[in-house]
Parts: sequence; C-alpha cells; structure tokens
Amino acid sequence: MLNYFLSKVKLRFFKKIFFLLRQAGFVLPPRFVVWDCTRRCNLNCEHCGAKKEKYATELNTQQVKTLIENLADYGTKYFVVTGGEPLMRKDLFEIFAFAKTKGLKTGLATNGFFIDAKNSKIIAKIFDSVQISLDGPQEIHNKIRGNKKAFQKAAGSINLLKKSNCRQITVSSVVTSSNIKGLTDLGKIVESLGVDIWKISSVMPIGNAGKNKNLYLSQKDFLKLLGFVKNNKERLKIELGENLGFLGEYDKKVRREVFFCPVGFLTCCVGVNGNVRGCPEQPDNHYFREGNILKKDFRKIWQEGFRKYRDKKSLQDKSCQECKFQNNCRGGCWVMRLDNINCPIRHYHLQ
Ligand code: SF4
Ligand code: SF4
Repeated sequence: MLNYFLSKVKLRFFKKIFFLLRQAGFVLPPRFVVWDCTRRCNLNCEHCGAKKEKYATELNTQQVKTLIENLADYGTKYFVVTGGEPLMRKDLFEIFAFAKTKGLKTGLATNGFFIDAKNSKIIAKIFDSVQISLDGPQEIHNKIRGNKKAFQKAAGSINLLKKSNCRQITVSSVVTSSNIKGLTDLGKIVESLGVDIWKISSVMPIGNAGKNKNLYLSQKDFLKLLGFVKNNKERLKIELGENLGFLGEYDKKVRREVFFCPVGFLTCCVGVNGNVRGCPEQPDNHYFREGNILKKDFRKIWQEGFRKYRDKKSLQDKSCQECKFQNNCRGGCWVMRLDNINCPIRHYHLQ
C-alpha cells in the first residue's frame, strides 16, 4: 500500500513538472522507447495482438542503430524490443550489443522458443530484462499457442536464463475467457520458476482477439481475476497491466503502483517500418501514427506529436467528462477504447 501511495505522489509531481515545462515549450524526452521489430513469428496465439497489421519491409540494422544513437543522445533510458517474435531477426544481438555500448538499459519480450543454452548467455549479457509469455499450465498454454512444445520451451528458457544470471526475468500472461480457469495453477508454476515479476494483463480488442470477442472477460471472470491478484500480489510479485485501466476503489488493492497510461509522457513505440505510435498494442493507423523516423527526426516527432495524450481537452470522451476519477484515469487505455471497454468501472460495474 505504501508503494501505491508513493507512486501516486510521484506521478502527481511528474505530471505537474511535465505540464509546466510543456507550457514553456519544452517536452521531456521519453524514458522508454519500445521497438516493435517484426511481424514474423513462429507461433499463432489465439489472442495475438500483433496480427493486426502486415508489413512488406522492416527497418534495417543501420536504421535501428541510428535510432539508438539518437535516443541515447536525447536522454532516453530504456530501449526494449517486442514483435512478432524478436528472435526471428538475425541482427537482434548485434543491435542490442550496440545499444549497450550507448549506455541504454535494454529489454526483450519473447515467447522463449528460440532460447537455448548457448544464446541464453548472450541474452543475459545484452538485455537487462527479459519477458517470457506464459498463458497457462502446459495444456492450456500449448492449446493457445497451437504448438505442443511451446510450454516446455518457454519454461525451459526461463531456467536457462536464470542459470545465465539474467538480471531480471518477467513472466507475462494475458488472461482471457479461455485460460482464466488455469490461473491458480499458473500461479504455482510461476512461483516454482522463481521469476522477478509476474505481469498479468487482460485480452485486448486487437489482432486475433479483435476478431473473437468470446475471449473477452465476463464480469464474473474479471472479478475473479481481481480477487486472485489482490490475494497473491505480494507473494507472486504480480504487476497488473495498465491496459486494465483505472479500477476505482480496487486500484490500490490490486496494483503496486497507481494506474497511468504512459503514452506521450514517458513512452512511445517505433514500429516495424519506422512509423511511430504510442505503444505496440495500438494499431498502426492514421489515428495513432505520429510520424516516421525515416522521414522525420525522432526528437521532432516526440516533441511535436502526441498532442491527444498531452492536451487535456482532447483527452476524454463525453462519458468521462463528469467522472470523479478523471484525473487519475484520463480515460483509461487507448486500445481498449477501440471497442469501448476502456472503463472497467462502467463495463464491469465495479461500484
Ligand atoms: S468514466 Fe472515464 S475517466 Fe472515469 S473511470 Fe471510466 S474511463 Fe476513467
Ligand atoms: S494505450 Fe493501453 S496498452 Fe498502450 S500503453 Fe496505454 S494503457 Fe498500455
């Protein structure tokens, strides 16, 4: 609870500084930049959000290195990679070894399938944190991923990374109507794997899940999830994904830190072909796109774009404007808004 309270104070202070500086014409650099590096993947998960778009080209090695140099010069602290499956890129290790020479903290989000005894040592060296997806006990995880070896590979990669002294390992789980039944058993598995963080998010209306609304959580399932997190948050080191939005009175019971969508303040995402948007989950479309790093300097895109996140007036839809939580919430997750499920308080009748 103390952490939650401190995070609230810290966030209020940060927002104040951010807006004051902005009024004076200065925008703080993003602390985290996510590189959505490829749409290629060896698996096809039933809820995969990355299936929402396809690209004919990807940024090449030199273009990404130039981006890294620009970010390091600008003052960005973290450069993390997601996909698709990032380990499908043959130049991934070269790129992240380079990022380390530029002083950036690095992160990798992967399904773990391609991690072996040899490359786990390299990964532990060039990535400060590694996030592996695990969406259920063996049978459920393999069914979701459509691959009989997926669970064994993911759990095995965690053990290999631990042996290689990886500095931080996170298990990431997306809860849907099809895997919530395995949540307690998954908790036991995560505990036995001994990871640093267990990140739990809920399914989003994009990619494969966007076409299958049956995967969304019912009110009963959502309350079950909150109850599970509340009772196990400390023991299982659970961090609840920000995509669940602001949870009213539940927020302090289930989160370690107060809800905040960091897009436009602390973070943004550089996509497969260099298009810049808020986060990897946002579709790469006209509404979310802020520019392209091959056509415009990244710093300019960050400073001149992202207005809808920073300008209070354009922030919330009508139903949020009279809400008592609007300062904490700011309208919830932008991706959940795509299917009008950004307000768990309304959607799940939380109070
Ligand atoms: S009504 Fe809007 S501001 Fe209020 S909690 Fe819901 S999403 Fe957030
Ligand atoms: S838009 Fe949603 S998924 Fe993206 S960073 Fe914000 S809360 Fe997270």
